Amino acid sequence: MPRILVIDDAKTMRDTLKDLLIPAGFDVLEAENGEKGLEVLGTQQPIDLVISDLNMPGMDGLTMCGHIKEQGYNTPVFMLTTQTSPDLKAKAKEFGVVAWIVKPHKDDILLGGIRKVLKL
Ligand SMILES: [Mg+2]
Repeated sequence: MPRILVIDDAKTMRDTLKDLLIPAGFDVLEAENGEKGLEVLGTQQPIDLVISDLNMPGMDGLTMCGHIKEQGYNTPVFMLTTQTSPDLKAKAKEFGVVAWIVKPHKDDILLGGIRKVLKL
């Protein structure tokens, strides 16, 4: 079962994503900020995909992506955020973010993107 790590400081958002992903056949791990996300990535492999918020207390999503890249993981990351700044998007791309999805997401678009990236 493909495994997805969901990182968002809002529990309601993590729950919403779990309610979408688990019935769709994914195993879901969660974390509440970038530090915790890195910890889960480091200890709970294999993880096939990360879906992360950008703005979180502690380590934000973009900083975390920099660390993911630096640490040599090639796990694809989807950024799920209210932010639309082209500068942030460009930086995210540099850090290996493969999809930038603006909240509120559409379930079918998110699932379609996940299946495409994971070649399911
Ligand atoms: Mg947030």
